[in-house]
Amino acid sequence: MRKFSESTLVIATHNAGKLREIKELLLPFGTNVVSAGELGFDEPEETEDTFTGNARIKAHYAAQKSGFPTLSDDSGITVDALDGAPGVYTADWAETENGRDFPMAMTKVWNLLEDKNAPEPRTAAFNCTLCLAWPDGHDEIFEGRVEGRIVWPMRGKLGFGFDPIFLPKGKTETFGEMDPVLKKEISHRADAFAKLVSGCFA
Ligand code: IMP
Repeated sequence: MRKFSESTLVIATHNAGKLREIKELLLPFGTNVVSAGELGFDEPEETEDTFTGNARIKAHYAAQKSGFPTLSDDSGITVDALDGAPGVYTADWAETENGRDFPMAMTKVWNLLEDKNAPEPRTAAFNCTLCLAWPDGHDEIFEGRVEGRIVWPMRGKLGFGFDPIFLPKGKTETFGEMDPVLKKEISHRADAFAKLVSGCFA
């Protein structure tokens, strides 16, 4: 496994919520972090049908453009009764003409579960694949996951994306209600990050 030994790391995301969480997770390592958005890079098309495939596209694209090692995150929610949907299309389900509308996307998930009369608990998981890619084409992949279930109505204004309808297993608060410090400890991103840190930063 290749270690990260450079001073600057590019984060290949334009998602403010993800960027905030990734910067916080990297804080203890004193790494100089800059986002692809801050560098003025556009976003490559995510043409793969797996989290790993799309994470690789995003990390290699920005690593080539910047000349720095680049970390990308491809993530999403998989709902068991919907055969894993929205999955890699989680962000797409929120797309509208006027930007992303997550309450609309969460309503769609709930309505599909209701239409199917899906039994409780309506199990789901948040998934996160991190790809650390170097400008010479090498990469390392780390996968994280947190299990839980879909609840309705939406609960909480913290977090981002689908957080208000995701109740992690064994918890009483949705990710939308949970203190961000606790989310940072148990989330799919934290799980993948722990693997990244022990693989490349330790
Ligand atoms: P992508 O990885 O940029 O394709 O988008 C993943 C989408 O999954 C995001 O836009 C969010 O809607 C959702 N997502 C990923 N991680 C989280 C999370 O921690 N909380 C809530 N939603 C998330």
